Amino acid sequence: MGIISQHAFIQPLDPRWYGDAAAAVDMIRLDLLHPVISGNKWFKLKHNLRYAIEHKYDDILTFGGGYSNHLIATAAAAKKYGVRSIGIVRGNYNTTELTPTLKACKELDMELFFISREEYAKKEDEAWLKVLYKKYSEPYIIPEGGANDKGRVGAGEIAELIPEHYSHICVSVGTGTTFIGLRNNLLVTKTVLGFAPMKKGSYIAEEIAPLIRNDNNWHIFDRWHFGGFGKWDNTLLAFMNQFYELNAIPLDIIYTAKMMYGVEALLKEGYFSKDSNILCVHTGGLQGNVSVQKQLVY
Ligand SMILES: *Cc1c(COP(=O)(O)O)cnc(C)c1O
Repeated sequence: MGIISQHAFIQPLDPRWYGDAAAAVDMIRLDLLHPVISGNKWFKLKHNLRYAIEHKYDDILTFGGGYSNHLIATAAAAKKYGVRSIGIVRGNYNTTELTPTLKACKELDMELFFISREEYAKKEDEAWLKVLYKKYSEPYIIPEGGANDKGRVGAGEIAELIPEHYSHICVSVGTGTTFIGLRNNLLVTKTVLGFAPMKKGSYIAEEIAPLIRNDNNWHIFDRWHFGGFGKWDNTLLAFMNQFYELNAIPLDIIYTAKMMYGVEALLKEGYFSKDSNILCVHTGGLQGNVSVQKQLVY
């Protein structure tokens, strides 16, 4: 399944950004691989989609919030491969206005169903999933964020795009699926650092730990959440604009901007040894910038 070329572009960041705090800081531009199925999302979806097609499912069903990059990527990938898609959406957007993400999902022929936050919380409950399976014409069900074994295997394939010489790999963390895939498929000598965009994100580390194979060379930071998931302030917006002006790389306000803000803070704190070769993973998500577009220079 080749929507996406396996040659990701690695862009060196401007040395003025990191000074002498590291030997080099580069960014792997997974955001450039596809306009909608962007960043890490294709990697997490590909084996799920292949399984659904090979096992002759007519529909796939998945979950997401009103701004979910996973939901829109699933809608686009399913359409591309001629599978019907169903989105179970957290929150009753049907009674208010649809978000731009949800509108785009509909345009990609995803059928949307809206449920309350309380009901949505059951998204991993086996009994409830059986009910959904019966209710929506026996679809192949992909968990929120593509967070299953097939998602982790696919995310692990990102490791194949990463050249040997890097000492540190930085990635933002939602469900942790991408982080786990990377950690399990990179050499143990490489340090993998995760950046949580939500408050008290260190719970992610507890969820991730059992799924990581035999090494400890990783850490999850949760200091740079800017008030919580989906929250931001003018400092973060200013950072995104400055980062763009220096590096010509657009960051998304939900995940990658908070990660790069954290990487900058770590560089300033002298966290890295000066001979470090750092690779930051641009996991995409730029469609999520619509609500702040007017305040961005890009
Ligand atoms: C979904 C997403 C993440 C989180 O990925 P997980 O595999 O769920 O940890 C990170 N960055 C961006 C831009 C995303 O859209």
